[in-house]
Amino acid sequence: MLAVKYNGIGDVRTEDIPKPVCAPGNVLIKVAYAGICGSDLHIYRKGMFVTYLRETMGHEFSGVVESIGEGVQGLEPGDHVVGDPRVTCGKCRWCRQGAFNLCPELGFIGEVSPGCFAEYIEMNVKKILKVPPEINLRRAALVEPVAVALHAVDQGKITEKDSLGIVGAGPVGLLTIAVAKALRVKEITVLDISPARLELARRLGADKVITAFPEECSGAIDVAVDAVGKEITLNGILNWLNPKGRLVMVGLYEEKANFDPNSVVTKELDLIGVNAYETTHLERAIDFLIDCSPDIEQVITHVLPLESAGEAFSLLNSAGTGAAKILLAP
Ligand SMILES: [Zn+2]
Ligand SMILES: [Zn+2]
Repeated sequence: MLAVKYNGIGDVRTEDIPKPVCAPGNVLIKVAYAGICGSDLHIYRKGMFVTYLRETMGHEFSGVVESIGEGVQGLEPGDHVVGDPRVTCGKCRWCRQGAFNLCPELGFIGEVSPGCFAEYIEMNVKKILKVPPEINLRRAALVEPVAVALHAVDQGKITEKDSLGIVGAGPVGLLTIAVAKALRVKEITVLDISPARLELARRLGADKVITAFPEECSGAIDVAVDAVGKEITLNGILNWLNPKGRLVMVGLYEEKANFDPNSVVTKELDLIGVNAYETTHLERAIDFLIDCSPDIEQVITHVLPLESAGEAFSLLNSAGTGAAKILLAP
């Protein structure tokens, strides 16, 4: 079968590898659509997260059950499914509480074990969520990033009383607009440097779009979601926030950042981290995608074959292309 392998920084290749066989307790899934995530780009650019070279990449997917291993119940061939891609130790205090996203050993398929940029993936039945037929498989591939957006909005305790700023109109930023819109948040302002992405932000419900942080404090916001993770966005947001404001940090940083901690002290700001999602967010993401407007699929700007993975990565890595979520379709 075809699979996309990480061969080192900037080097992604589609190769022929053996198709997995379904072990007891596991499920073999024929991948329908697999999304390229911001964390895949961190791997591509910096080699972050991957434990060994030539791993099959990818952790976001939708697919159809091909076969089930011995002892598997509740699933049968033909079922539409998505996966919980988190790989955890299962033993620590956080895992025992079900807070898997806080496990110190948290990793993802496609980083610490074979991923879903392949024709087939084998996963344990406990890691599989069934998707109802109301959600097409293309939309189902958004379950994982929608779970991140739901977690970000929860962590920031974002309500309809807030004026919200979203920095970065990539997939997570765009999906956060959709989730915040459903909460009837007072005003949503989105910042990005790409006009094409800002056009998408508007279509998903942004009230205002901007290409730079506002100079004067008249447009200050109550809560910001940083879906970028750079020194420049961090400092821009610390300036932009109202006193008592909250900064929800979703984007992972590739470099250390310098900032003035006094802006946090004097404005009494809250800095809030978001690491992936809890299991409930994956379940809620499925419900969200059943009910939401078809506009959500506009986040998907490209659908490409596995053979074009290299091209997809260089497209996402070049600024200003307007690409948001790229799905690979085996
Ligand atoms: Zn992801
Ligand atoms: Zn653990």
